[in-house]
Amino acid sequence: ALNSHPSGRHFLQIPGPSTVPDRILRAMDYPTIDHRGPEFQQLGKSVLAGIRKIFRTESHVVIYPASGTGAWEAALVNTLSPGDTVLMCETGHFASLWKRMAERLGLVVEFIPGDWRHGADPAAIEAKLAADPQHRYKAVCVVHNETSTGVTSRIADVRKAIDRAKHPALFMVDTISGLASADYRHDEWGVDVTVSGSQKGLMLPPGLSFNAISAKALEASKNAKLPRAYWEWNEMIASNASGYFPSTPATNLLYGLHEAIAMLHEEGLDNVFARHKRHGEATRAAVRAWGLEVLCLEPAEYSPVLTAVVMPEGHSADAFRKIVLANFNMSLGQGLGKVAGKVFRIGHLGDFNDLTLMGTLAGVEMGLGLSGVPHRKGGVLAAMEHLAATAPAAPASE
Ligand code: PLP
Repeated sequence: ALNSHPSGRHFLQIPGPSTVPDRILRAMDYPTIDHRGPEFQQLGKSVLAGIRKIFRTESHVVIYPASGTGAWEAALVNTLSPGDTVLMCETGHFASLWKRMAERLGLVVEFIPGDWRHGADPAAIEAKLAADPQHRYKAVCVVHNETSTGVTSRIADVRKAIDRAKHPALFMVDTISGLASADYRHDEWGVDVTVSGSQKGLMLPPGLSFNAISAKALEASKNAKLPRAYWEWNEMIASNASGYFPSTPATNLLYGLHEAIAMLHEEGLDNVFARHKRHGEATRAAVRAWGLEVLCLEPAEYSPVLTAVVMPEGHSADAFRKIVLANFNMSLGQGLGKVAGKVFRIGHLGDFNDLTLMGTLAGVEMGLGLSGVPHRKGGVLAAMEHLAATAPAAPASE
């Protein structure tokens, strides 16, 4: 029988929540303070300024005590009115959930169909917008890193497509699982509302989510008629101006956020992105060596955050994941929506290094063997060889 208490540290290799590093756990392990007092004001000012740098924006970023779903809602209700039409792209499960939410809120969604193996198609978006001289579309909504598929949409190219069509629609992007693992630039890419969450690249527990807001989006909020109360940006922004929040903030998560921002800057955001990209490459080298298929079909859209692996026909990805959990105390991501049971997902986001990757891939390779999934050996070796060939220069010694 397997141990009831598995020894060794749990490998949380789902694509979020990601492992919370000890440094962040320690940073949160302090008494909760008066959120209207002077000590909080310093913390508030610091995290509100610091988080802008992570989104690469000079604009407002509001922080909600909510999961990512709440920040999706905030983006829509602050900018749109009942009956407005929005253009969305079926990149996978999360894009489908955002669409369902928009419809529940009384918006009309035009959904560009997708095969869950490609990102949002800039040409298809451009064609839709070019055929809309009346400006019926009030917003274009794209999921940057589709966590259900391991496909990253090319946000800069979507921006260019909107510009080529000379269309005034707002551009809203969900980078809930992309932020702080995959390159992201709110200002440079001309995004109007960026939605994100705490439990992925920011290495925090779940419970915080974000809207980065362009001047154009803030302007649109003045005339937006969807009902909103808790999500109201203007109340948040007014209170944030002095470092406070209109209602009780998630103080201890903000301690963690303060530490996470410091850690990301110590490493350097570009180094963080390069680290994840390299781990994605090594993961795909392993998958190919096993003779399995990566769900993402477009190399320019491979996610640096996670890799979704297609199970061979006749084998259940969920049965495989169960065996991996029981034997190795490792959680892999389950297939969601249309790909339930057909894929498993390897998270390589957040606080993650070469050895975390090798442990993860060893668990996958051993699990494939134990569950009788046809594959070749050598994935772990292929990944190790990729890591050796691409090892970053060692930091200069004293
Ligand atoms: N969007 C994406 C891309 C996600 O990965 C997730 C969660 O995994 C969500 C939205 C929903 O966020 P939450 O579960 O924090 O509400």
